[in-house]
Amino acid sequence: MNRRDILKFGAISAAAATVTLTGCTTSPKPDDSVKPAVGMGSKAPLPAAKGPRVVIVGGGWSGLSVAKYTKKFAPNADVVLVEQRTQFHSCPISNLYLVGAVDLEFITHDYLQAARENKYTYFNASAIGIDKAQKIVKTTNGDIDYDYLVLAPGIDYDYSPWNVDLATEQRLRTEYPAGFMSPSEHMTIKSKLEDFEGGNFIITVPGGNYRCLPAPYERACLIADYFKKNEIEGKVLILDANPDITIKSEGFHSAYDEMYKDYVEYVPNAAIMSVDLENKKVIAGELEDEFEFSDAAFYPHVRGGKLLEVCGVAKDNAFNKMEGNIDPFTYEVIGEKNIFVAGDARPMGYSKSGNTSNSEGHYLGKLLAERITKNKDIPWKSPLTVCYSAVSAMPNHAISVRAEYEFKGKTLAGFTNVELSQEWRGKIGENNGKALMEWAKGMYRDMFNA
Ligand SMILES: Cc1cc2nc3c(=O)[nH]c(=O)nc-3n(C[C@H](O)[C@H](O)[C@H](O)COP(=O)(O)OP(=O)(O)OC[C@H]3O[C@@H](n4cnc5c(N)ncnc54)[C@H](O)[C@@H]3O)c2cc1C
Repeated sequence: MNRRDILKFGAISAAAATVTLTGCTTSPKPDDSVKPAVGMGSKAPLPAAKGPRVVIVGGGWSGLSVAKYTKKFAPNADVVLVEQRTQFHSCPISNLYLVGAVDLEFITHDYLQAARENKYTYFNASAIGIDKAQKIVKTTNGDIDYDYLVLAPGIDYDYSPWNVDLATEQRLRTEYPAGFMSPSEHMTIKSKLEDFEGGNFIITVPGGNYRCLPAPYERACLIADYFKKNEIEGKVLILDANPDITIKSEGFHSAYDEMYKDYVEYVPNAAIMSVDLENKKVIAGELEDEFEFSDAAFYPHVRGGKLLEVCGVAKDNAFNKMEGNIDPFTYEVIGEKNIFVAGDARPMGYSKSGNTSNSEGHYLGKLLAERITKNKDIPWKSPLTVCYSAVSAMPNHAISVRAEYEFKGKTLAGFTNVELSQEWRGKIGENNGKALMEWAKGMYRDMFNA
């Protein structure tokens, strides 16, 4: 197995090296002169905990998995999942939603069901800070005491490597969203495709360890497929900050060359240097080439969810800014007993994928349960990355990768036990396409059902 083909660690590290490092921020001091709004600063409206309380902030792939498995393995724990959204919206499969191959309902799920079936509390609020000394999470709906705290806020976007001013950044977020975080971004991109009349549709691939390595390349395939089927004279222009496709490169390259010759143009080493939204042009790459666009979805660098920085548990690393400052095996924050960071906000160079977060959540749930019930740890278990990428829709054809991770000491050495299927043609590709949908249904069942 050629490791280079799985994940170009070198390429990612090189790109990440361009990220400016700033150092760790500590939590802001509370301002006593500010009167708290209703809910804030008062106790959260929750009954007294009946057992050790585990508060999990962030109800994404990570938080949902940690909540379920902590409660499963430690039934006496009082598990509270704090999530700012009222519905779960899955990023995996959202590329198929963009081109009408699945509806919104398929990727939307019910937090109340997850909480009912798995016997924990879903608490709809935003976490705004923690008081480590008092062991309190501060939320927009009151303070919650914890014995154990897991922060799983996912990612935030980091536009700083593009050197755009705040007005341009706001326009990029609103008019050309990346589509790697929120449901509104996906809805905007879907409308863009429905209204698209021709020309270049730019997709950017950032450097660093960005969320879901194959997703931008999958999206390019599906948009090209949509243009081709709907006879739209459009081309997907992929401006990739990396020197080559970062994962499943053979499968994606062959799909672009064979299926989408007139519909996809792949440009490597094309980090964004400047953006001119008035004239719809970008300058990219060291040679400062100019690219025009009719429309675009600009995917910037990623960083750890802002909450980590606010809570003083984040640190820059070789890939990204402000990800969890944790022990890579226990997920515990360095120097902070009983506070953990998991999911895409972790600093380890794992593939930032839903499956990785889910399998990690099984492990962390078990680890927390062992600490609660027996006051000891369990042996480290590698997370599992399983990722199917559609290269065409209706019928879906897909390629896939499955991999675990190995360490040398405390340093991540790379992938192990890798299985790749880069064949999208014929029966194999069709079976991969079916497996993609079964994988998604299985994951939703795991997070939302008992
Ligand atoms: C287009 C696309 C396609 C993808 N395809 C795949 C795929 O095929 N397979 C795969 O395995 N992975 C895929 N992924 C990656 C996957 O979506 C992420 O790796 C996964 O969502 C990470 O889980 P997480 O829980 O860390 O973060 P998230 O799922 O982003 O969850 C974070 C949660 O925290 C909440 N939150 C943040 N801050 C606060 C706060 N202060 N208070 C309360 N709540 C807060 C957010 O609202 C959010 O619900 C894809 C991603 C994208 C964008």
